[in-house]
Amino acid sequence: MEKITKIYLMTNEKGLKYVGKTTCQYLSQRMAVHKSQAKTKRNINKCTSHLLFDCEVKIELLEETTGDDETIKLLEGKYIQEIDCVNKCVAGRTFKETKQNWVKNNPDYFKEYQRKNHSTTSGKKYYCECCEIEMLNTSKYRHFKTDAHKLKTK
Ligand SMILES: [Zn+2]
Repeated sequence: MEKITKIYLMTNEKGLKYVGKTTCQYLSQRMAVHKSQAKTKRNINKCTSHLLFDCEVKIELLEETTGDDETIKLLEGKYIQEIDCVNKCVAGRTFKETKQNWVKNNPDYFKEYQRKNHSTTSGKKYYCECCEIEMLNTSKYRHFKTDAHKLKTK
């Protein structure tokens, strides 16, 4: 069977976002790893995603691919470009500045997030039985077109 890589988005209550990729079957497994890394006192080289974990965090699927490493890198890069995420925190600029800029540039984001979040928590999720993954209802049709899904429904 082909390896499926998921490109995912984590968003916290403050509107901070992080784009990542994983081959975990469930996104919740990947988030658990991020979470425990964020909480650890050990002096490890923390991934920028730890910035999200001072409040509630949601994880959602952006896209799945069975493509090679190059394809995955391009896809991930595309989302990082499109989405205003903490992955973009560049060296030399402190995170605090980045966050302040972000809040300034996105004054309505938090309100919007709560509104959307409210509608997504009221059952707007789709669970694909054959792939055994959960996704946003709106990603459903894109998921149906993926090779991974087609292979499983053959
Ligand atoms: Zn499927």
